[in-house]
Amino acid sequence: MGRNKSPKIEKLINLILENDSLKHLLSRLGIFIVDYHGRRSLTNEIWKDLGHPGEHTYDRTWTQFLHPEDRKRVEANLQDLVQGKTDFFREVYRVEDPAGGWRWISNRGGVIHRDENGAPWFFIGTDEDMTRIKEAQEEASHRAREAGTLNATIEVITSSLDLDETVKRVLEQARRVVPYDRATVQILHDGHLQIIGGQGFSDPKLFDNLRFSYPEEGSLTTRAIQERRPWMSNDVRKDFPKFIQVEDSMPTRSWIGVPLIAHGDVIGLISFDANQKAFYTHRHLELARAFAGPVAIAMENARLHGETYKLAMVDALTGIGSRHAFDLNSRFLFEKSRREERELSLALLDLDRFKEVNDDFGHQVGDVVLQDVCRTCESGLRATDMIARYGGEEIIILFPDTNVKTAADIAERIRASVADLKIPGVDRSVTVSAGITGSRPDRHASLAEMIREADAALYKAKAQGRNRIVVY
Ligand code: GH3
Ligand code: MG
Ligand code: MG
Repeated sequence: MGRNKSPKIEKLINLILENDSLKHLLSRLGIFIVDYHGRRSLTNEIWKDLGHPGEHTYDRTWTQFLHPEDRKRVEANLQDLVQGKTDFFREVYRVEDPAGGWRWISNRGGVIHRDENGAPWFFIGTDEDMTRIKEAQEEASHRAREAGTLNATIEVITSSLDLDETVKRVLEQARRVVPYDRATVQILHDGHLQIIGGQGFSDPKLFDNLRFSYPEEGSLTTRAIQERRPWMSNDVRKDFPKFIQVEDSMPTRSWIGVPLIAHGDVIGLISFDANQKAFYTHRHLELARAFAGPVAIAMENARLHGETYKLAMVDALTGIGSRHAFDLNSRFLFEKSRREERELSLALLDLDRFKEVNDDFGHQVGDVVLQDVCRTCESGLRATDMIARYGGEEIIILFPDTNVKTAADIAERIRASVADLKIPGVDRSVTVSAGITGSRPDRHASLAEMIREADAALYKAKAQGRNRIVVY
Protein backbone atom coordinates (compact mmCIF):
# COMPACT_ATOMS: atom_id res chain seq x y z
CA MET A 1 0.00 0.00 0.00
CA GLY A 2 1.35 3.37 -1.03
CA ARG A 3 2.25 5.59 1.84
CA ASN A 4 2.64 9.30 1.96
CA LYS A 5 5.98 10.84 2.72
CA SER A 6 6.35 11.17 6.44
CA PRO A 7 4.59 14.39 7.44
CA LYS A 8 6.09 17.03 9.71
CA ILE A 9 3.54 16.24 12.40
CA GLU A 10 5.10 12.79 12.71
CA LYS A 11 8.26 14.38 14.06
CA LEU A 12 6.24 16.15 16.74
CA ILE A 13 4.42 12.94 17.67
CA ASN A 14 7.72 11.12 17.86
CA LEU A 15 9.06 13.77 20.21
CA ILE A 16 6.04 13.40 22.44
CA LEU A 17 6.13 9.61 22.49
CA GLU A 18 9.83 9.66 23.35
CA ASN A 19 9.32 11.85 26.39
CA ASP A 20 8.17 9.67 29.26
CA SER A 21 7.16 12.43 31.64
CA LEU A 22 5.19 14.23 28.93
CA LYS A 23 3.51 10.94 27.95
CA HIS A 24 2.65 10.33 31.58
CA LEU A 25 1.12 13.78 32.02
CA LEU A 26 -0.91 13.60 28.79
CA SER A 27 -2.17 10.18 29.82
CA ARG A 28 -3.29 11.50 33.17
CA LEU A 29 -5.04 14.40 31.46
CA GLY A 30 -7.05 11.87 29.48
CA ILE A 31 -5.33 12.67 26.20
CA PHE A 32 -4.70 9.91 23.72
CA ILE A 33 -2.86 9.84 20.41
CA VAL A 34 -3.35 7.29 17.66
CA ASP A 35 -0.91 6.80 14.81
CA TYR A 36 -2.89 4.63 12.41
CA HIS A 37 -0.03 4.13 9.99
CA GLY A 38 2.62 3.46 12.58
CA ARG A 39 0.17 1.28 14.47
CA ARG A 40 1.14 2.78 17.79
CA SER A 41 -0.70 4.82 20.32
CA LEU A 42 -0.54 6.76 23.51
CA THR A 43 -3.34 5.29 25.58
CA ASN A 44 -4.69 7.43 28.37
CA GLU A 45 -5.32 6.30 31.94
CA ILE A 46 -9.07 6.17 31.56
CA TRP A 47 -8.86 3.60 28.80
CA LYS A 48 -6.15 1.67 30.66
CA ASP A 49 -8.32 1.66 33.78
CA LEU A 50 -11.00 -0.07 31.79
CA GLY A 51 -8.49 -2.83 31.13
CA HIS A 52 -8.42 -2.28 27.36
CA PRO A 53 -5.01 -2.33 25.63
CA GLY A 54 -3.95 0.42 23.23
CA GLU A 55 -4.07 -1.79 20.11
CA HIS A 56 -7.85 -1.53 20.08
CA THR A 57 -7.45 2.15 19.47
CA TYR A 58 -5.63 2.03 16.18
CA ASP A 59 -7.32 -1.04 14.74
CA ARG A 60 -10.73 0.57 15.50
CA THR A 61 -12.08 -2.57 17.18
CA TRP A 62 -12.53 -0.66 20.43
CA THR A 63 -16.24 -0.15 19.72
CA GLN A 64 -16.79 -3.81 20.66
CA PHE A 65 -16.58 -2.70 24.32
CA LEU A 66 -19.41 -0.16 23.97
CA HIS A 67 -22.93 -0.54 25.24
CA PRO A 68 -25.11 -2.06 22.49
CA GLU A 69 -27.38 0.98 22.55
CA ASP A 70 -24.45 3.30 21.84
CA ARG A 71 -22.35 1.19 19.48
CA LYS A 72 -24.17 1.78 16.18
CA ARG A 73 -24.28 5.53 16.66
CA VAL A 74 -20.60 5.75 17.55
CA GLU A 75 -19.59 3.49 14.67
CA ALA A 76 -21.56 5.64 12.23
CA ASN A 77 -19.75 8.75 13.47
CA LEU A 78 -16.41 6.97 13.19
CA GLN A 79 -17.29 6.01 9.63
CA ASP A 80 -17.86 9.70 8.81
CA LEU A 81 -14.46 10.47 10.29
CA VAL A 82 -12.71 7.72 8.32
CA GLN A 83 -14.39 8.79 5.08
CA GLY A 84 -13.37 12.36 5.65
CA LYS A 85 -16.88 13.75 6.00
CA THR A 86 -15.69 15.31 9.23
CA ASP A 87 -12.42 15.82 11.07
CA PHE A 88 -13.88 16.19 14.50
CA PHE A 89 -15.32 13.50 16.70
CA ARG A 90 -17.48 14.09 19.76
CA GLU A 91 -19.42 11.36 21.55
CA VAL A 92 -20.71 10.33 24.94
CA TYR A 93 -21.13 6.57 25.35
CA ARG A 94 -21.01 3.70 27.80
CA VAL A 95 -18.01 1.38 27.94
CA GLU A 96 -17.92 -1.98 29.64
CA ASP A 97 -16.42 -1.69 33.11
CA PRO A 98 -14.36 -4.77 34.03
CA ALA A 99 -15.53 -4.21 37.62
CA GLY A 100 -19.13 -4.66 36.42
CA GLY A 101 -21.65 -2.35 34.85
CA TRP A 102 -20.87 0.48 32.49
CA ARG A 103 -18.79 3.65 32.58
CA TRP A 104 -19.94 6.79 30.82
CA ILE A 105 -17.17 8.26 28.70
CA SER A 106 -17.11 11.59 26.91
CA ASN A 107 -14.74 11.38 23.98
CA ARG A 108 -13.62 14.31 21.79
CA GLY A 109 -10.86 14.54 19.29
CA GLY A 110 -9.83 15.21 15.74
CA VAL A 111 -7.88 13.94 12.79
CA ILE A 112 -4.76 16.03 12.27
CA HIS A 113 -3.41 14.43 9.14
CA ARG A 114 -4.70 12.16 6.39
CA ASP A 115 -2.83 9.96 3.91
CA GLU A 116 -3.08 10.24 0.11
CA ASN A 117 -6.25 8.07 0.24
CA GLY A 118 -7.82 10.47 2.69
CA ALA A 119 -7.65 7.98 5.57
CA PRO A 120 -6.78 9.41 9.02
CA TRP A 121 -3.14 9.21 9.84
CA PHE A 122 -3.05 10.80 13.27
CA PHE A 123 -5.83 11.33 15.73
CA ILE A 124 -5.52 13.23 18.99
CA GLY A 125 -8.34 13.18 21.49
CA THR A 126 -9.36 13.18 25.13
CA ASP A 127 -11.53 10.93 27.20
CA GLU A 128 -13.39 12.05 30.27
CA ASP A 129 -15.12 9.76 32.73
CA MET A 130 -18.67 11.07 33.07
CA THR A 131 -19.98 8.18 35.14
CA ARG A 132 -20.41 10.18 38.35
CA ILE A 133 -22.13 13.06 36.60
CA LYS A 134 -24.43 10.72 34.68
CA GLU A 135 -25.31 8.85 37.86
CA ALA A 136 -26.04 12.10 39.63
CA GLN A 137 -28.30 13.15 36.76
CA GLU A 138 -30.10 9.84 36.80
CA GLU A 139 -30.41 9.95 40.54
CA ALA A 140 -31.97 13.41 40.31
CA SER A 141 -34.49 12.40 37.67
CA HIS A 142 -35.15 9.16 39.53
CA ARG A 143 -35.86 11.05 42.72
CA ALA A 144 -38.14 13.44 40.88
CA ARG A 145 -40.01 10.46 39.46
CA GLU A 146 -40.27 8.81 42.88
CA ALA A 147 -41.57 11.99 44.46
CA GLY A 148 -44.11 12.34 41.64
CA THR A 149 -45.14 8.73 42.01
CA LEU A 150 -45.65 9.01 45.73
CA ASN A 151 -47.63 12.20 45.31
CA ALA A 152 -49.81 10.53 42.73
CA THR A 153 -50.30 7.64 45.14
CA ILE A 154 -51.41 9.87 47.94
CA GLU A 155 -53.77 11.59 45.54
CA VAL A 156 -55.26 8.23 44.58
CA ILE A 157 -55.84 7.41 48.20
CA THR A 158 -57.47 10.66 49.11
CA SER A 159 -59.67 10.60 46.03
CA SER A 160 -61.03 7.08 46.42
CA LEU A 161 -62.59 5.23 49.29
CA ASP A 162 -63.03 2.02 47.39
CA LEU A 163 -60.39 -0.40 48.63
CA ASP A 164 -60.15 -2.59 45.51
CA GLU A 165 -59.72 0.41 43.29
CA THR A 166 -57.21 2.05 45.61
CA VAL A 167 -55.07 -1.07 45.95
CA LYS A 168 -55.04 -1.51 42.19
CA ARG A 169 -54.00 2.06 41.53
CA VAL A 170 -51.40 2.20 44.29
CA LEU A 171 -49.75 -0.97 42.98
CA GLU A 172 -49.77 0.46 39.45
CA GLN A 173 -48.02 3.58 40.73
CA ALA A 174 -45.54 1.57 42.77
CA ARG A 175 -44.49 -0.39 39.69
CA ARG A 176 -42.81 2.72 38.29
CA VAL A 177 -40.22 2.71 41.06
CA VAL A 178 -40.33 -0.81 42.49
CA PRO A 179 -40.49 -3.01 39.41
CA TYR A 180 -42.23 -6.33 39.96
CA ASP A 181 -43.75 -9.26 38.15
CA ARG A 182 -46.48 -9.58 40.75
CA ALA A 183 -47.49 -7.51 43.74
CA THR A 184 -50.08 -8.17 46.42
CA VAL A 185 -51.76 -6.49 49.33
CA GLN A 186 -52.58 -8.90 52.14
CA ILE A 187 -54.69 -8.34 55.20
CA LEU A 188 -53.85 -9.92 58.52
CA HIS A 189 -56.61 -11.84 60.29
CA ASP A 190 -56.35 -14.20 63.23
CA GLY A 191 -54.16 -17.03 62.10
CA HIS A 192 -53.84 -16.11 58.44
CA LEU A 193 -53.06 -13.54 55.81
CA GLN A 194 -55.50 -13.06 52.97
CA ILE A 195 -54.70 -11.46 49.61
CA ILE A 196 -57.17 -8.65 49.04
CA GLY A 197 -55.65 -7.22 45.89
CA GLY A 198 -52.93 -7.93 43.39
CA GLN A 199 -51.32 -6.93 40.14
CA GLY A 200 -49.50 -8.96 37.52
CA PHE A 201 -51.26 -12.28 37.95
CA SER A 202 -52.20 -14.16 34.80
CA ASP A 203 -55.62 -14.62 36.36
CA PRO A 204 -56.92 -12.70 39.40
CA LYS A 205 -58.82 -15.84 40.43
CA LEU A 206 -55.43 -17.30 41.35
CA PHE A 207 -55.32 -15.25 44.49
CA ASP A 208 -59.01 -14.98 45.23
CA ASN A 209 -59.47 -16.35 48.71
CA LEU A 210 -55.86 -17.42 48.86
CA ARG A 211 -54.63 -17.57 52.43
CA PHE A 212 -51.22 -17.91 53.98
CA SER A 213 -50.93 -19.17 57.49
CA TYR A 214 -49.58 -16.79 60.09
CA PRO A 215 -47.40 -17.08 62.01
CA GLU A 216 -45.45 -19.65 60.03
CA GLU A 217 -42.06 -21.08 60.91
CA GLY A 218 -39.34 -19.66 58.64
CA SER A 219 -41.75 -17.57 56.60
CA LEU A 220 -40.41 -14.31 55.24
CA THR A 221 -43.82 -12.72 55.66
CA THR A 222 -44.08 -13.76 59.29
CA ARG A 223 -40.66 -12.31 59.90
CA ALA A 224 -41.53 -8.96 58.30
CA ILE A 225 -44.70 -8.71 60.38
CA GLN A 226 -43.19 -9.85 63.66
CA GLU A 227 -40.15 -7.61 63.33
CA ARG A 228 -42.37 -4.82 61.99
CA ARG A 229 -39.92 -3.91 59.26
CA PRO A 230 -39.51 -4.42 55.52
CA TRP A 231 -37.85 -7.65 54.53
CA MET A 232 -36.13 -8.66 51.32
CA SER A 233 -34.98 -11.91 49.80
CA ASN A 234 -32.99 -12.17 46.59
CA ASP A 235 -33.14 -15.95 46.61
CA VAL A 236 -36.52 -17.08 47.85
CA ARG A 237 -35.80 -20.77 47.22
CA LYS A 238 -32.85 -20.64 49.56
CA ASP A 239 -34.32 -18.28 52.18
CA PHE A 240 -37.75 -19.90 52.45
CA PRO A 241 -38.07 -23.17 50.53
CA LYS A 242 -41.75 -23.46 51.49
CA PHE A 243 -42.60 -20.14 49.78
CA ILE A 244 -46.04 -20.55 48.19
CA GLN A 245 -45.76 -20.00 44.45
CA VAL A 246 -49.04 -18.60 43.17
CA GLU A 247 -47.94 -18.73 39.53
CA ASP A 248 -46.44 -22.19 39.05
CA SER A 249 -45.08 -21.41 35.61
CA MET A 250 -43.16 -18.33 36.75
CA PRO A 251 -42.00 -18.79 40.30
CA THR A 252 -40.96 -15.86 42.44
CA ARG A 253 -37.21 -15.71 43.03
CA SER A 254 -36.83 -12.25 44.59
CA TRP A 255 -39.23 -10.81 47.12
CA ILE A 256 -39.88 -7.70 49.17
CA GLY A 257 -42.45 -7.64 51.95
CA VAL A 258 -43.40 -4.54 53.91
CA PRO A 259 -45.71 -4.66 56.91
CA LEU A 260 -48.70 -2.33 56.78
CA ILE A 261 -49.04 -0.47 60.03
CA ALA A 262 -52.05 1.63 61.04
CA HIS A 263 -52.35 3.23 64.47
CA GLY A 264 -49.38 1.20 65.62
CA ASP A 265 -50.90 -2.16 64.68
CA VAL A 266 -49.77 -4.39 61.84
CA ILE A 267 -52.87 -4.77 59.68
CA GLY A 268 -51.31 -6.54 56.72
CA LEU A 269 -48.49 -6.73 54.26
CA ILE A 270 -47.61 -5.44 50.81
CA SER A 271 -45.41 -7.74 48.73
CA PHE A 272 -43.43 -7.30 45.52
CA ASP A 273 -42.38 -10.44 43.66
CA ALA A 274 -39.85 -10.77 40.84
CA ASN A 275 -39.20 -13.88 38.75
CA GLN A 276 -35.53 -13.00 38.49
CA LYS A 277 -33.07 -13.95 41.20
CA ALA A 278 -31.06 -11.18 42.92
CA PHE A 279 -33.44 -8.60 41.49
CA TYR A 280 -34.03 -6.20 44.37
CA THR A 281 -31.72 -3.60 45.87
CA HIS A 282 -31.86 -1.79 49.17
CA ARG A 283 -33.09 1.22 47.26
CA HIS A 284 -36.14 -0.81 46.14
CA LEU A 285 -36.69 -1.84 49.73
CA GLU A 286 -36.70 1.79 50.86
CA LEU A 287 -39.15 2.76 48.13
CA ALA A 288 -41.41 -0.18 48.89
CA ARG A 289 -41.46 1.04 52.48
CA ALA A 290 -42.59 4.45 51.28
CA PHE A 291 -45.60 2.87 49.56
CA ALA A 292 -46.65 0.87 52.59
CA GLY A 293 -47.75 3.97 54.52
CA PRO A 294 -50.31 5.14 51.96
CA VAL A 295 -51.62 1.60 51.46
CA ALA A 296 -52.16 1.22 55.20
CA ILE A 297 -54.07 4.51 55.23
CA ALA A 298 -56.19 3.33 52.30
CA MET A 299 -57.04 0.10 54.09
CA GLU A 300 -57.88 2.00 57.24
CA ASN A 301 -60.04 4.44 55.26
CA ALA A 302 -61.84 1.61 53.56
CA ARG A 303 -62.46 -0.09 56.89
CA LEU A 304 -63.83 3.09 58.42
CA HIS A 305 -65.88 3.72 55.31
CA GLY A 306 -67.13 0.16 55.49
CA GLU A 307 -68.24 0.81 59.03
CA THR A 308 -70.03 4.01 58.10
CA TYR A 309 -71.69 2.17 55.27
CA LYS A 310 -72.80 -0.52 57.67
CA LEU A 311 -74.13 2.13 60.06
CA ALA A 312 -76.28 3.57 57.31
CA MET A 313 -77.57 0.27 56.03
CA VAL A 314 -78.27 -1.55 59.27
CA ASP A 315 -80.71 -0.41 61.91
CA ALA A 316 -78.70 0.15 65.07
CA LEU A 317 -81.35 -1.01 67.56
CA THR A 318 -82.69 -4.12 65.89
CA GLY A 319 -79.92 -5.22 63.52
CA ILE A 320 -82.31 -5.65 60.60
CA GLY A 321 -82.08 -3.44 57.50
CA SER A 322 -82.46 0.30 57.88
CA ARG A 323 -85.10 2.41 56.18
CA HIS A 324 -82.27 3.76 54.03
CA ALA A 325 -81.28 0.25 52.98
CA PHE A 326 -84.89 -0.52 52.13
CA ASP A 327 -85.28 2.59 50.02
CA LEU A 328 -82.13 1.75 48.09
CA ASN A 329 -82.66 -1.96 47.57
CA SER A 330 -86.43 -2.17 47.20
CA ARG A 331 -86.46 0.04 44.15
CA PHE A 332 -83.93 -2.21 42.51
CA LEU A 333 -85.92 -5.33 43.44
CA PHE A 334 -89.16 -3.82 42.18
CA GLU A 335 -87.67 -2.83 38.82
CA LYS A 336 -86.02 -6.20 38.43
CA SER A 337 -89.29 -8.07 39.10
CA ARG A 338 -91.13 -5.84 36.69
CA ARG A 339 -88.53 -6.23 33.95
CA GLU A 340 -88.37 -9.99 34.35
CA GLU A 341 -92.14 -10.26 34.84
CA ARG A 342 -91.75 -12.11 38.09
CA GLU A 343 -93.97 -11.97 41.11
CA LEU A 344 -93.23 -9.79 44.09
CA SER A 345 -95.03 -9.53 47.42
CA LEU A 346 -94.80 -7.03 50.22
CA ALA A 347 -95.80 -7.14 53.88
CA LEU A 348 -96.11 -4.31 56.38
CA LEU A 349 -96.09 -5.39 60.04
CA ASP A 350 -96.90 -3.27 63.05
CA LEU A 351 -96.67 -4.17 66.71
CA ASP A 352 -100.02 -4.23 68.41
CA ARG A 353 -100.67 -1.79 71.23
CA PHE A 354 -96.98 -1.17 71.56
CA LYS A 355 -97.57 2.13 73.27
CA GLU A 356 -99.04 0.17 76.17
CA VAL A 357 -95.97 -2.06 76.37
CA ASN A 358 -93.84 1.03 76.71
CA ASP A 359 -96.18 2.57 79.24
CA ASP A 360 -96.42 -0.56 81.38
CA PHE A 361 -92.84 -1.83 81.28
CA GLY A 362 -90.76 1.16 80.29
CA HIS A 363 -89.11 2.20 77.09
CA GLN A 364 -86.03 0.03 77.63
CA VAL A 365 -88.10 -3.11 77.91
CA GLY A 366 -89.98 -1.84 74.85
CA ASP A 367 -86.65 -1.76 72.99
CA VAL A 368 -85.92 -5.35 73.95
CA VAL A 369 -89.39 -6.38 72.75
CA LEU A 370 -88.74 -4.66 69.43
CA GLN A 371 -85.41 -6.44 69.10
CA ASP A 372 -86.94 -9.84 69.87
CA VAL A 373 -89.77 -9.31 67.42
CA CYS A 374 -87.40 -8.25 64.65
CA ARG A 375 -85.15 -11.25 65.29
CA THR A 376 -88.18 -13.55 65.14
CA CYS A 377 -89.35 -12.01 61.87
CA GLU A 378 -85.91 -12.31 60.34
CA SER A 379 -85.47 -15.95 61.32
CA GLY A 380 -88.79 -16.78 59.66
CA LEU A 381 -87.61 -15.49 56.27
CA ARG A 382 -85.65 -16.91 53.37
CA ALA A 383 -82.27 -15.51 52.41
CA THR A 384 -83.71 -13.77 49.36
CA ASP A 385 -86.41 -11.94 51.34
CA MET A 386 -85.62 -8.43 52.41
CA ILE A 387 -86.55 -7.05 55.80
CA ALA A 388 -86.15 -3.54 57.20
CA ARG A 389 -87.32 -1.37 60.04
CA TYR A 390 -89.70 0.92 58.22
CA GLY A 391 -90.72 3.18 61.08
CA GLY A 392 -90.76 3.15 64.91
CA GLU A 393 -92.43 -0.23 65.41
CA GLU A 394 -93.23 -0.97 61.81
CA ILE A 395 -91.42 -3.62 59.82
CA ILE A 396 -91.46 -4.00 56.06
CA ILE A 397 -90.70 -7.20 54.15
CA LEU A 398 -90.24 -7.74 50.42
CA PHE A 399 -90.64 -11.25 49.04
CA PRO A 400 -89.11 -11.55 45.56
CA ASP A 401 -90.37 -14.30 43.25
CA THR A 402 -93.21 -14.96 45.65
CA ASN A 403 -96.95 -14.86 45.10
CA VAL A 404 -99.17 -13.22 47.67
CA LYS A 405 -100.50 -16.54 48.99
CA THR A 406 -96.99 -17.81 49.86
CA ALA A 407 -96.08 -14.44 51.38
CA ALA A 408 -99.20 -14.55 53.52
CA ASP A 409 -98.28 -18.06 54.71
CA ILE A 410 -94.81 -16.91 55.72
CA ALA A 411 -96.26 -13.83 57.46
CA GLU A 412 -98.75 -16.00 59.28
CA ARG A 413 -95.98 -18.26 60.61
CA ILE A 414 -94.07 -15.17 61.78
CA ARG A 415 -97.20 -13.81 63.46
CA ALA A 416 -97.65 -17.07 65.37
CA SER A 417 -93.97 -17.17 66.44
CA VAL A 418 -94.12 -13.61 67.72
CA ALA A 419 -97.28 -14.39 69.70
CA ASP A 420 -95.43 -17.32 71.29
CA LEU A 421 -92.42 -15.22 72.30
CA LYS A 422 -91.62 -15.16 76.00
CA ILE A 423 -89.89 -11.91 76.78
CA PRO A 424 -88.31 -11.46 80.23
CA GLY A 425 -90.11 -8.79 82.21
CA VAL A 426 -93.14 -8.81 79.96
CA ASP A 427 -96.04 -10.78 81.42
CA ARG A 428 -98.18 -10.80 78.32
CA SER A 429 -97.83 -11.95 74.75
CA VAL A 430 -96.72 -9.37 72.21
CA THR A 431 -98.51 -9.55 68.90
CA VAL A 432 -98.19 -8.11 65.45
CA SER A 433 -100.64 -7.31 62.68
CA ALA A 434 -99.71 -7.38 59.01
CA GLY A 435 -101.07 -6.16 55.72
CA ILE A 436 -99.95 -7.97 52.57
CA THR A 437 -100.10 -7.28 48.89
CA GLY A 438 -98.48 -8.80 45.87
CA SER A 439 -98.70 -9.91 42.29
CA ARG A 440 -96.85 -9.41 39.08
CA PRO A 441 -95.44 -5.88 39.53
CA ASP A 442 -96.84 -4.72 36.18
CA ARG A 443 -100.15 -4.47 37.98
CA HIS A 444 -98.60 -1.81 40.21
CA ALA A 445 -97.46 1.55 38.98
CA SER A 446 -94.81 1.79 41.63
CA LEU A 447 -93.48 0.35 44.82
CA ALA A 448 -95.16 3.22 46.67
CA GLU A 449 -98.49 1.90 45.41
CA MET A 450 -97.71 -1.54 46.82
CA ILE A 451 -96.84 0.03 50.17
CA ARG A 452 -100.12 1.97 50.18
CA GLU A 453 -102.05 -1.26 49.56
CA ALA A 454 -100.18 -3.11 52.32
CA ASP A 455 -100.84 -0.21 54.67
CA ALA A 456 -104.54 -0.29 53.88
CA ALA A 457 -104.61 -4.04 54.60
CA LEU A 458 -102.71 -3.47 57.84
CA TYR A 459 -105.29 -0.87 58.87
CA LYS A 460 -107.96 -3.48 58.27
CA ALA A 461 -106.09 -6.05 60.38
CA LYS A 462 -105.95 -3.59 63.23
CA ALA A 463 -109.63 -2.75 62.84
CA GLN A 464 -110.55 -6.45 62.80
CA GLY A 465 -108.97 -6.95 66.23
CA ARG A 466 -105.17 -7.12 65.63
CA ASN A 467 -102.84 -10.17 65.82
CA ARG A 468 -103.80 -11.13 62.32
CA ILE A 469 -102.82 -11.05 58.64
CA VAL A 470 -104.94 -9.32 56.03
CA VAL A 471 -104.30 -9.66 52.30
CA TYR A 472 -105.15 -6.60 50.24
P1 GH3 B 1 -101.49 -0.16 67.38
O1 GH3 B 1 -101.82 -1.55 67.74
O2 GH3 B 1 -102.64 0.61 66.90
O3 GH3 B 1 -100.33 -0.09 66.45
O4 GH3 B 1 -101.06 0.53 68.76
P2 GH3 B 1 -99.66 1.14 69.07
O5 GH3 B 1 -99.65 1.50 70.51
O6 GH3 B 1 -98.58 0.25 68.64
O7 GH3 B 1 -99.73 2.39 68.14
P3 GH3 B 1 -99.01 3.74 68.07
O8 GH3 B 1 -98.57 3.97 66.67
O9 GH3 B 1 -99.92 4.76 68.67
O10 GH3 B 1 -97.79 3.63 69.02
C1 GH3 B 1 -96.55 3.23 68.53
C2 GH3 B 1 -95.63 3.25 69.70
O11 GH3 B 1 -94.42 2.62 69.42
C3 GH3 B 1 -95.31 4.65 70.14
C4 GH3 B 1 -93.84 4.63 70.43
O12 GH3 B 1 -93.54 5.00 71.75
C5 GH3 B 1 -93.45 3.18 70.24
N1 GH3 B 1 -92.18 3.10 69.64
C6 GH3 B 1 -91.85 3.46 68.40
N2 GH3 B 1 -90.52 3.22 68.21
C7 GH3 B 1 -90.03 2.73 69.38
C8 GH3 B 1 -88.75 2.32 69.82
O13 GH3 B 1 -87.76 2.38 69.09
N3 GH3 B 1 -88.60 1.84 71.07
C9 GH3 B 1 -89.68 1.77 71.91
N4 GH3 B 1 -89.46 1.29 73.12
N5 GH3 B 1 -90.87 2.18 71.53
C10 GH3 B 1 -91.07 2.64 70.29
MG1 MG C 1 -98.38 -0.26 66.63
MG1 MG D 1 -97.31 2.11 64.29
